[in-house]
Amino acid sequence: MDIYDVIIIGGGPAGLTAGIYVSRARMKSLLIESYTIPGQALLVEKIENYPGFPEGINGFELIEKFKQHCRMYSLEIVNETVESISKSHSTAFPIWHVKTGKNIYKSLSIIIATGSQHRKLGIPGEEKFFQKGVSYCAVCDGVIFKNKDVVVVGGGDSAAEEALFLAKLAKSVILIHRRDKLRAAQVLQERLFSNDKIKILFNTIVTEITGKDKVEEVNVKNVYNNSESIIPCDGVFISIGLVPNTMLVKGLVALDEESYIITDENMKTSADGIYACGDCRRKPLRQIITACSDGAIAAFSAGQYVEKIKSSFLAGSV
Ligand code: NAP
Repeated sequence: MDIYDVIIIGGGPAGLTAGIYVSRARMKSLLIESYTIPGQALLVEKIENYPGFPEGINGFELIEKFKQHCRMYSLEIVNETVESISKSHSTAFPIWHVKTGKNIYKSLSIIIATGSQHRKLGIPGEEKFFQKGVSYCAVCDGVIFKNKDVVVVGGGDSAAEEALFLAKLAKSVILIHRRDKLRAAQVLQERLFSNDKIKILFNTIVTEITGKDKVEEVNVKNVYNNSESIIPCDGVFISIGLVPNTMLVKGLVALDEESYIITDENMKTSADGIYACGDCRRKPLRQIITACSDGAIAAFSAGQYVEKIKSSFLAGSV
């Protein structure tokens, strides 16, 4: 039967690391990646906290290095969008069917490494002006705002990095955060506070994005005294966190209240043969380095699981 030992879904740091490990273990493996939603790591202009690159490395460049590493071990990689995952019940152990737009692949185990995507603010004008001034990625769209006025919404690492990146191009950057304290790492906060082009508006929320054909203003409200004001701007960069890409496994494995996949320390999910790694799983720290660590563990665990099935099969106990 043409059944893979493991199928990895997702081609970010977690999935590619799992790919290196499963192919080095000589498992019959396939990695399915989709370009429809670019992974978070791809969009980082300069990654400064990945060990071994003290000068920093561009996200796209790092992912390319991961891919080259996978190719060294001849990992089979296809670019298809996974539509569904189901289980066949004809054997004592599950055989997972992964349906893409083009094929149905079968596997003894699956590693979910589908990452996350940008959270939306959900305010009027956000959808209407998407790509007409509203963006979720400064590295992708920043150049359009050379010498223009932009606002960045959010207070985490991503918002800080977006603001710092935009300050190199734009005329002015206003970072709007809903609380009185940023969540971003201290080193990023220090850079924000010392950058003359960046102004930070604390305790403020954006209530609407307005304009005629493109963004012209944002309406903001102070959360303490409810006073409202208007900030003229050409661009709005929304950077308020992530939502996991876990729709595919909803109902198949246990998710937490925010839809992150619940795993144990071996990256095992609630379903036999399904492992999860990287940003799509519940965990305390979402970094490239922790995604890679998850990927290695998921590959190791899937390997042990497949080995157990195969030896039971040969011993005739399944
Ligand atoms: P995050 O750490 O979850 O921060 C999201 C920010 O957006 C928070 O400041 C939050 O406010 C704010 N926010 C959330 N919902 C909002 C809403 N509806 N309206 C207004 N503001 C809202 O997300 P992130 O910055 O995208 O980072 C995601 C993960 O990637 C984190 O684990 C982060 O450490 C990691 N990351 C790391 C690096 C790096 O190490 N260089 C770079 C980028 C990302 P509150 O603070 O009030 O909750």
